[in-house]
Amino acid sequence: MKIMPNRMDRGYYKYQKEFEEKTLEVLRSGWYVLGNEVKSFEEEFAEYNGAKFCVGLASGLDALWIAFKVLGIGHGDEVIVQGNTYIASVMGITINGATPVFVEPDDYYSIDTSKIEEKITDKTKAILVVHLYGQVSNMDEVVKLCGKYNLRLIEDCAQSHGAKFNGKMVGTFGDIGCFSFYPSKNLGAFGDAGAIVTNDEKISYDIRVFRNYGSEKRYYNKVIGANSRLDEIQAGLLRVRLKHMKEITDERVSIAKRYSQELKNKLIKLPKIRENTDSVWHQYVIRTSERERLIEYLNKHEIGTIIHYPIPPHLAEAYEYLGFTNGYLPITELLAKEVLSIPMYNGMTNEEQEYVIKTINNFN
Ligand SMILES: *Cc1c(COP(=O)(O)O)cnc(C)c1O
Repeated sequence: MKIMPNRMDRGYYKYQKEFEEKTLEVLRSGWYVLGNEVKSFEEEFAEYNGAKFCVGLASGLDALWIAFKVLGIGHGDEVIVQGNTYIASVMGITINGATPVFVEPDDYYSIDTSKIEEKITDKTKAILVVHLYGQVSNMDEVVKLCGKYNLRLIEDCAQSHGAKFNGKMVGTFGDIGCFSFYPSKNLGAFGDAGAIVTNDEKISYDIRVFRNYGSEKRYYNKVIGANSRLDEIQAGLLRVRLKHMKEITDERVSIAKRYSQELKNKLIKLPKIRENTDSVWHQYVIRTSERERLIEYLNKHEIGTIIHYPIPPHLAEAYEYLGFTNGYLPITELLAKEVLSIPMYNGMTNEEQEYVIKTINNFN
């Protein structure tokens, strides 16, 4: 049995008829950018998150950098972020000229909130929380720190659509929640797409204007903006997928639950879930000091895996100018050597799950 780390086609075929009907509907409507599909998706996604406003954008990275841009966070400012994240989180900070200040993760792959305070300076303007792998950060502590030091709170929810902390949706704890709908995300489009959610009317207005060349009214440009519009086809297809979001999330949760119950191998550590949180299992990430050997073994048994992520951002070539070297973030760097994402996708069959479990349990 050949198993790939992800199967996006399964998610398409599951709702094939609805996706195809919606595509034709938009194609035949004659309206392709900033129309009713985008407007409806924004309303529906805001409601899904329990947020007041949503603005559709062209990607998750755009959501991040435009968030910092409209908050006026740039040159000379510092933003606190966990070391173990996807590079886009960090680029969202640095595109505007701000400086990332890295903090080590806790046992849940989230920012270690007990190590934030020591990194706060008078230049610190914001904390960027990343709900990595669909796991939820310790929002009680983050919110407290942002209040105490008067910091902006931005959440990178690119991997955590529908995840909850104490029953409250991620993305709604601070100023802005940033989402990606890249096809492989839990709520995936069929191309690039993103959005922000916020409860602040002024922020939502500023982002809405910024995404369309800084204009509210056509050809009247208030600020130098960007072209970061969500298109009608993607918005329509996202509306289809959003209707099934509960089913999509429940399925991932049940696969993860099974993995956690049935994977038993002394060489492998399983992911832990923080109390009072609902992870949405964007990835099921195990740890092992025998990673190279495990990857090779799984490849031999035709099971594909991915490392999220082999090089932490502070050691990426792009960030050489920040001057960090190996050893600066020992926990982050150890994770980069030990983490491995095993197959996890909607439409994964019982037999596929069983085969993955059995094969991993037999690794020695
Ligand atoms: C995917 C991702 C992004 C970027 O989203 P794009 O739509 O690819 O630009 C940002 N942050 C995290 C944590 C991601 O996983």
